[in-house]
Amino acid sequence: MLSLFESFPELQKNLPHIPLGDFPTPIQTMDSLAKTIGMDSLYIKYDSLSGTPYGGNKLRKLEFLIGDALHKRSQGIITFGCAGSNHALATAIYAKQNGLKCTSLLFPQPNALMVQKNLLASFHFGAELHYCISEKMMKNILERQIKKHESSFGCTPVIIPPGGSSPLGTVGYVNAGFELKQQVSAGLIPEPDFIYLASGTMGTSAGLQLGVMAAGLKTKVVPIRVTDVKYSSESGMSQLFNETCTLLREYDETFPSLHLPETETGLRHDFFGTEYARYTRESVEAVKLMKETEQIMLERTYTGKALAALIHDANLGLLKDKVVVFLNTYNSRGLDDVPAELDYHNLPGDFHRYFEEDVQELDREQ
Ligand SMILES: *Cc1c(COP(=O)(O)O)cnc(C)c1O
Repeated sequence: MLSLFESFPELQKNLPHIPLGDFPTPIQTMDSLAKTIGMDSLYIKYDSLSGTPYGGNKLRKLEFLIGDALHKRSQGIITFGCAGSNHALATAIYAKQNGLKCTSLLFPQPNALMVQKNLLASFHFGAELHYCISEKMMKNILERQIKKHESSFGCTPVIIPPGGSSPLGTVGYVNAGFELKQQVSAGLIPEPDFIYLASGTMGTSAGLQLGVMAAGLKTKVVPIRVTDVKYSSESGMSQLFNETCTLLREYDETFPSLHLPETETGLRHDFFGTEYARYTRESVEAVKLMKETEQIMLERTYTGKALAALIHDANLGLLKDKVVVFLNTYNSRGLDDVPAELDYHNLPGDFHRYFEEDVQELDREQ
């Protein structure tokens, strides 16, 4: 049972939820990396192993979002992301597994091998992909897709925002806070001072901060912004935290009433670089160091930038006698059933550019 439901059984009765993943996710020390960057107490929480065939942070949210779609007897989901979106891929996989049609509206992003891989995998798992080069185009496609869905299925599709970061999706990370509290109580880890993680659409950070506070931990979440401020900001984070708390209290009035002031979000802007999914030197180096010291594979859009911030702070001596957790939000399952020979020509023509144009400069360094 989810840790959150053990503490608040009313939520289990009332919230839409379907188990998709394997929880709790493991926690381990990273002694070799800690030693290299002069830290005493560094841990990793493997949300990378949250599920099979595809892990990563989106699964916790999808348990509620797909649960909601099934509860509404909807036949399909429409969601959004950039071309290489891990969220769009995770949604495609778990929608299909639950008999739902997935339609993804995808925006441009800097090219990388990851983009090619995720596009092919989304397609393989049956997602209908549309390329949107502007907000206006997205709105038109969305309107058309909703109508089309209604006429073929006789019901409306469930619309899931980018990253799955609606208040309902965010509840998945409130649960992660309660899960961590149980791991602390079980003696698997001392009470953490900080959890470093990447913030894209803020659901992971806002939910986790709400979860640890409600569970009674003193832990501070340190979200590293990796998207444009439109998607990740102090005001947005505070609002999502508050809305998620309000939602939980609607379903169970005994859930504590908490607030996160904008000044308390701890959002970090200094590792973003120039744009979303544009790799930075620090991110590339952080991914390399993780591989060398711990044999753990990260990527350069999210987890590399978050780890770069942690390394930076450790080098300044700020984390010396702190207990620090790095949240690995990136899928580490191999997706073995995606055939390697899948031909990109099967994708809608708009996406061929990602296979025909060069990848960004830092992606050519392996
Ligand atoms: C989506 C994603 C994030 C960001 O999570 P948000 O809840 O959108 O802030 C972090 N890491 C990885 C690997 C992701 O795919």
